[in-house]
Amino acid sequence: MVTVDRRTLFKAGVTATAAGALGMTTTGTAGAAVPTIHPTSEWGARAASGPIVVENHKPTYIVVHHAVDPPMNNDFSLARAFYVSRFIQNLHMDKNGWIDSGQQFTNSRGGFVTEGRHRSLEILRGGTQHVQGANVGNHNSEVIGIENEGLYSTVDVPAALWNSLVSLVAYIAHQYGIAPEFIKGHRDFNSTECPGQVLYNRLPELRTAVGRVLGVAVTRSEAEWPLLKPGDTGRQVQLAQQFLRAAGFGVPSDGVFGQSTKDAVAALSGQAGLPRDTCTAAKASDETGFLGADVWPLIVPSGRSAAAWRADLART
Ligand SMILES: [Zn+2]
Repeated sequence: MVTVDRRTLFKAGVTATAAGALGMTTTGTAGAAVPTIHPTSEWGARAASGPIVVENHKPTYIVVHHAVDPPMNNDFSLARAFYVSRFIQNLHMDKNGWIDSGQQFTNSRGGFVTEGRHRSLEILRGGTQHVQGANVGNHNSEVIGIENEGLYSTVDVPAALWNSLVSLVAYIAHQYGIAPEFIKGHRDFNSTECPGQVLYNRLPELRTAVGRVLGVAVTRSEAEWPLLKPGDTGRQVQLAQQFLRAAGFGVPSDGVFGQSTKDAVAALSGQAGLPRDTCTAAKASDETGFLGADVWPLIVPSGRSAAAWRADLART
């Protein structure tokens, strides 16, 4: 039996003013336990190889990732959570050449949460600043990222991982006054499969669960840019092909995402200097030619807002 005293509870996070500014409606003040987050000192992290950048503002979005490596298994122990933390840090420092873990926090299949990049926990507790990570290309000043152990393209997360994800995201949202609508998946920013189709499909459920913890109502999120991949077929692919043709690429408009369409998207992404392999998930799989959130704005005809196009594509 674990007893939780008042100091380990946090309440409906935002003040009335902040709630109003964010368009949130406060509906309750139920307290929630502050999740246990194991700091870098506990799991044997290496020292960062360069200075940690702390930005003097709060992050705007909380971003959910999955992690292709290390390959997932059914070891749900704390020791495994620490191993995964070390594995990802080594990958990010030795293969990606980053100064430290790219993500601010890591969540294991056993439901254990660890600090990723150094100082992330201390700065989160302060609630006013942001440790700049490396997990969402071109958006690292805006996002605080969580790597979830495992690959969730076709299988669901374990219940323990889900429960700790809800607790962690709710705590982060509380600390920074972030509305549940600002909980995103990595693919909402970059052209990547991350955080996996199955986990991505559960983001509305995550927003609702976090809203319940915080005691705030959650409005329906706006449509995001769809993610299209080589092998996909259908009307969205056909539209993308028409846009690519208008941009001068010699692709068919048959609604089949074949090799020439893949090559065109890859070329366009290269020309635009779009970042690739920006998290642990993308690093381990070939996502060349994926057409997602950072590619669509380059090809949709001008004259309409991005929001209008996203809504349109969602209906297509
Ligand atoms: Zn990711």
